[in-house]
Amino acid sequence: MPIDFTLTPEQKAMQAAARQFAQEVLKPLVRAADAEPDPQKGFQMMKPVYEIAYQHGLVTGGFPREYGGAGMSNLDLQIAFEEICAVDCGFAFILGVNALALFPVLAYGTEEQKKRFITEACNDPTHSYLCGYAASEPAGVPGGTANFDHPSPQGGIRTTADLVNGEYVINGRKFWPSSSAGWDMKGADMNSVVVRTDRTKGGREGLSVLMVPRGTPGVRYEPCIDKMGMRINQNCDIVFENARVPAENALAIGNGELVINNGFTFTGPVVGIAAVGVARAAYEYVLQWCKTYTAGGTDPIIYHQNVGYMLGDIAMRIEAARYLSWKSAHYLDLYGFDGAQGLSAMTKVFCSEICTQVVYDCMRVMGQNSYDRAAHPLDKLMRDMLGFPIFDGGNMGMQRRKLWGLMAGEKFDPRAYAACDRVHFGKENEGIGVVTTRPEALSEPAAAGR
Ligand SMILES: Cc1cc2nc3c(=O)[nH]c(=O)nc-3n(C[C@H](O)[C@H](O)[C@H](O)COP(=O)(O)OP(=O)(O)OC[C@H]3O[C@@H](n4cnc5c(N)ncnc54)[C@H](O)[C@@H]3O)c2cc1C
Repeated sequence: MPIDFTLTPEQKAMQAAARQFAQEVLKPLVRAADAEPDPQKGFQMMKPVYEIAYQHGLVTGGFPREYGGAGMSNLDLQIAFEEICAVDCGFAFILGVNALALFPVLAYGTEEQKKRFITEACNDPTHSYLCGYAASEPAGVPGGTANFDHPSPQGGIRTTADLVNGEYVINGRKFWPSSSAGWDMKGADMNSVVVRTDRTKGGREGLSVLMVPRGTPGVRYEPCIDKMGMRINQNCDIVFENARVPAENALAIGNGELVINNGFTFTGPVVGIAAVGVARAAYEYVLQWCKTYTAGGTDPIIYHQNVGYMLGDIAMRIEAARYLSWKSAHYLDLYGFDGAQGLSAMTKVFCSEICTQVVYDCMRVMGQNSYDRAAHPLDKLMRDMLGFPIFDGGNMGMQRRKLWGLMAGEKFDPRAYAACDRVHFGKENEGIGVVTTRPEALSEPAAAGR
């Protein structure tokens, strides 16, 4: 395919439809839901909009047609996602996490599992079907998530699942998963959960994924996490106490850490274009402000050179981030998870960090009025944006570490992305940077947060 960034007539129509949905259906509800002090209530306020989005194919559009999806490419989804994120990225992630939760089935499941789980998600007559993806774990000692591929069974993922009489018995706790508690705090319709199925092995051999349906006894949902931004997205605290699922619900046995890494490969371009959407919203708002606000002068502030130069810098960063997101989505369409890993990590890190700077620069250009949260949207855009570098695999402990593991490999070809070649990432690239280098004298672990 030649290098060509022209949108097809179909892509332009999809962009227009997504923009209309975002502006006319979603936007009127966002301000009140974001301001709602109870995060679960804010999430629930979105259910009617979610049902409309489901009917528009925005929830399951990326799944293969044979299971009831629309077979949309990752590149096409980028175009729709930017429009929704320009209005509210938290809502966009409620849509997107369904694909993240079910991709392990597509990538690692048997044909029977694909038919069972994906067909069900794509054909819900209530249009409210929700899936959650639960990998992250709470703070503690040991605790957290970044070192999920730790070589020792004493590190990494702590949630365990033991095979007893044809059932996996799950114990542990997950913290942060999106949508997992469902619309009513009784559980999403389905959760894919990364667990330790072999207590004797490290993160590269001992982890697997279990599909945990709503209503599974032994699963409890604690109150949702009260976040500073992306407030419309639900983030959960899940406790598993001898929860049982049949062995037929297991997949990626011994490859759970690859599921986590491949999940980031899928989400890299999605988070990239989401950051573009939020940054674009800030830029367009501030550009208009600069063309009308005089700051006590006789002419609008855009006629000050520093304002014009900064707006130019803001615009060029957004353009660069958008094209990198498109390129890595295209890579994902070409090569799937095994091939797009490095470029997805670059996209997630670059776009989330450069777009955070963009929103901050928009506030600097606009001046003190950007700090007025009642009159202007910059407060919400900044709160939302600050989550991008630290979620979906923090840029430090997970995303950069993954890229580092790839680049350190003997076969890594630094020209591969320019040549549009497949870049393989496998178990041999995992586990870099997780082993402690703490001197013996400092061996007492520091107390963690909560
Ligand atoms: C809005 C939102 C939605 C989310 N949705 C989901 C979801 O659907 N499912 C899910 O499972 N999770 C979800 N999460 C959690 C998210 O994926 C986190 O990125 C993930 O839990 C890892 O966080 P962390 O990198 O801060 O890890 P932590 O383990 O808490 O690490 C903390 C910090 O320690 C440092 N660090 C740790 N180890 C290393 C190392 N080896 N090398 C260098 N630095 C290191 C890094 O600076 C890292 O940022 C969500 C979070 C948010 C905010």
